[in-house]
Amino acid sequence: MAANSSTGSATEPPGLETQRREIDSLNQNQQLRAGDSWYLLDKRWFDQWKEYVDTGDQNSSSYPGKIDNTELFQDLDSYHLKERLVENEDFVLVPAEAWHKLLSWYDMMDDQPPLERKVVDLPSTVKVEVYPVEVYLCLSSNLENTVPARFSRADKIHAIHQMVRQQFEVSDTAESRMWMRSTDTSSERLRNLNMSVLDACLSSGMTVIMEIRNVDGTWPTSRPQIMRNSADDQDSYRGPPGVCGLTNLGNTCFMNSALQCLSNIPPLTEYFLKNLYLEELNFSNPLGMKGEIAEAYADVIKQMWSGRHYSVVPRVFKTKVGHFASQFLGYQQHDSQELLSFLLDGLHEDLNRVKKKEYIELGDADGRPDQDVAEEAWHNHLRRNDSVIVDTFHGLFKSTLVCPECYKVSVTFDPFCYLSVPLPVSKERVMEVFYVSLDPTAKPAQYRLIVPKAGRVFDLCTALSQATDVPPSQMVVADVFNHRFYKIYQADEFLSSILDQDDIFVYQLSNGSVDQDGEEVVLAIYLRERSHYRDYGSGSNSYGTSLFGHPLLMSVPRAQCTQEELYQLLLRRLSRYVRPPDPSEEVEEEEEGEDGGEEEEEEELCKAQTNGVSDDEGEEDSEEAGPSKKEEEQSRESSQADGQNNGLPEASPGSKGEERAEESSLKSEPDRGSSTDESQSACGSTDINFQDANDGDQSAAAEPSGKEEEDEDEEEDGEEAATCAQANKRLPGRRHFGLRRKKALFTIQAVNSNGTTERGMGEAGSSFSFSSQPYIAIDWDPDMKKKYYNENEAEKYIKHQSMDVPHQQMTVQLQECIALFTTVETLEEENPWYCPTCKKHQLATKKLDLWSLPEVLIIHLKRFSYTKYSREKLETIVDFPLRNLDFSGFLLKKMVNSAEPPCRYDLISVSNHYGGLRDGHYTSYARNKDNSQWYYFDDSKVTFAREEQIVTNAAYLLFYQRQDKIRQPTVPPPVPSSTQPENHITSQTHDGVDGAISCVSMETD
Ligand SMILES: [Zn+2]
Repeated sequence: MAANSSTGSATEPPGLETQRREIDSLNQNQQLRAGDSWYLLDKRWFDQWKEYVDTGDQNSSSYPGKIDNTELFQDLDSYHLKERLVENEDFVLVPAEAWHKLLSWYDMMDDQPPLERKVVDLPSTVKVEVYPVEVYLCLSSNLENTVPARFSRADKIHAIHQMVRQQFEVSDTAESRMWMRSTDTSSERLRNLNMSVLDACLSSGMTVIMEIRNVDGTWPTSRPQIMRNSADDQDSYRGPPGVCGLTNLGNTCFMNSALQCLSNIPPLTEYFLKNLYLEELNFSNPLGMKGEIAEAYADVIKQMWSGRHYSVVPRVFKTKVGHFASQFLGYQQHDSQELLSFLLDGLHEDLNRVKKKEYIELGDADGRPDQDVAEEAWHNHLRRNDSVIVDTFHGLFKSTLVCPECYKVSVTFDPFCYLSVPLPVSKERVMEVFYVSLDPTAKPAQYRLIVPKAGRVFDLCTALSQATDVPPSQMVVADVFNHRFYKIYQADEFLSSILDQDDIFVYQLSNGSVDQDGEEVVLAIYLRERSHYRDYGSGSNSYGTSLFGHPLLMSVPRAQCTQEELYQLLLRRLSRYVRPPDPSEEVEEEEEGEDGGEEEEEEELCKAQTNGVSDDEGEEDSEEAGPSKKEEEQSRESSQADGQNNGLPEASPGSKGEERAEESSLKSEPDRGSSTDESQSACGSTDINFQDANDGDQSAAAEPSGKEEEDEDEEEDGEEAATCAQANKRLPGRRHFGLRRKKALFTIQAVNSNGTTERGMGEAGSSFSFSSQPYIAIDWDPDMKKKYYNENEAEKYIKHQSMDVPHQQMTVQLQECIALFTTVETLEEENPWYCPTCKKHQLATKKLDLWSLPEVLIIHLKRFSYTKYSREKLETIVDFPLRNLDFSGFLLKKMVNSAEPPCRYDLISVSNHYGGLRDGHYTSYARNKDNSQWYYFDDSKVTFAREEQIVTNAAYLLFYQRQDKIRQPTVPPPVPSSTQPENHITSQTHDGVDGAISCVSMETD
């Protein structure tokens, strides 16, 4: 295999403190300048690196290894970036200089391309464009033959034009015009080649078509079937106004959901339909958007309520939003509540009747009656803010802060546009873990445990202890990722650092009786398979290895850390899925290659060979022309798929299928980059000497172990030590293997926490202490592995009965959430209050109360919970009333006369979110203002909905209208499932199952 172009020769990294300082300062001080390159870096790798440099210990087991962006790619063939990656969750962005430093110090996983992205200068922002616009290019003469291409939003259409000409070899003299087409089949001319991709509303997934004028002077697209416009198709459509879908433009369901909710708010929609907005457009408000958001919104609403479309493409609206709020640009999933908040604010400023805002000093209540202070606050608010949004959505709440020291009370009245109400958060958490017993014949067992959310790893062990009767002190908890230990937890670490999606394994270590001489070593054990090719790319002569299977933790008496004893211990530990050879087929080592003085062999011997257990380098010699790594991985996967049929007739008991019903297989993790690295090994000593293994100065290993055991070992070890120590300078003439010696199934090698043994680790004099975690790898030859390692059995586990207990779905009343909103809370340390009396920041107590409510009340259920201890989406069912939501018990303002509006509300729309914390799908329910029928809006699809479908655990934003403002329907309700147009399917259940699948799919007809 040729040397990899992306892996430059790594330079010797500076000290850890220097590394940290250099990278930190580059990351912090680098400005975003248009045209500059920044690089995406996997967050996990970066965190690991930070942990590593923070330890200040070059030998620390947190050594991050090569830069590995595997998790950011959709697959390792196309190296396409996954969709919807989130900055600082999935990746971090580092400036070019920092990237090149890291690359030179750590190198990069083989074949991975660097993820370089450019800074772009867009109208409202300068940002790193993580997701450029990906479009397809084609000619109108052959719409099937498309070429994908990526452009920046700052690029001009001219650049696309040039690219098409180049790609399809269109002559410079040919007269051409450009079209863009989205999946909804409508096409638009790209007339202005100087327009930017952003301003042309070109977005990912669209096709750019070039047509070339025919020789007879006509244009090919004069044939309407090619470039028809979707608006023309719908000429004949007549349906109920407002019952209109919105096409998904690529992860825009959050926007569609919010738009449908707003569209069904009668006073707002009528304001636009009656063109009242035209007189109030505020072109001069510096906080506004020169009326552009209001106009784009008006366009969408007018189309939706024209009754002429069953679906509308809100492209212009989306682009305007992206223009003014960069966070909504691009191709990522967003929060419908964030968009709503932005939109209401944008509409308000664009329609603000106050043309010149005066400065108003806000005073404290100073003991005046609430009524006076509230009236003053509302009056002041209206002096600066007066619009249809304020008329419709703004209410007032009272905020009371009390200083814990001087008891100063500060009262203010603040307007609000929506209420964000908390959901009761459970103090407990359900965790699923795999328990690996000391008993080598026992399969791992999956447990579901209830632990305190704010608990520590010890609490997890205690909970598991109750289910297993094994004392917590015998347990070690580890996060297993990609066949290795991503992290081995200490008992006092917080459980909050464990995410729900992490694969947590708990290992039973010893029953406590082994502790005779007091010295026990906890070994982390990895399984590795040697690949057939030699890793020339890394500049060493070693064979590549890749991790497989599940790692193990095992405590071993220090005295038993010799090769031979460890080998036997491991054989026993793995006996469930590693078959010891039958006496009949026991491989007797035969001598090959009598001379053995060939340099190459000696090098391999040093590198790939371990401490003398295996004598199988004869085989390795013949493997130089082996398959490539990819082929090798495939063959490994297929042998895995073969399961029990791959030559393992005598697998351990229980593998024959009778237990199949209750057994499952541990998902084998995808092979995200096998670790191939030079295997400088702990050659040369009888003990697994971790000090030597990690010592760059191999002279420490030069001395053969003083322990004299069997003569065979002694001789062999001595030779190997010499080989390694002298780095091929002093070649031993010949190795004498015991001719009758049994061939070992695997060899044992000391490694680092990544399962690799890399150079540069450990410097002379720095010793690897037993107090930190020693790691070893069990290295298998592919053939031996195939023969003796039962992959199918290794992956098996059982489900403990705790897994059968269903998750309890929590249900709360909406009123409870509102009550929580008004509960006294103490400010958090990150957000203190400045007490004017004490003249310092205080952790005051804060209480919110509702003072007055708007005509349309938006309630935001805070399902996305970010606390110190957890980040989660709360799946609680909030039971909210469709009618008669009564706020009289919550309102502080006393009803002084009957002229005051009542405070009872009816539901008019709901924005739903299905799925998890970061992805998922948005839809909405809304009641049509004209016919009072409920509909379900799922992007371009609209269906009838029944009232009993509306309350689900997906409800995220609730829109209520005060009863005194609700008008009777103007048309009779439609009759479901009769002569409805296409978009009106009979009502169906919306349990979110189909909704949760994807929101990227677009409606095409
Ligand atoms: Zn105070």
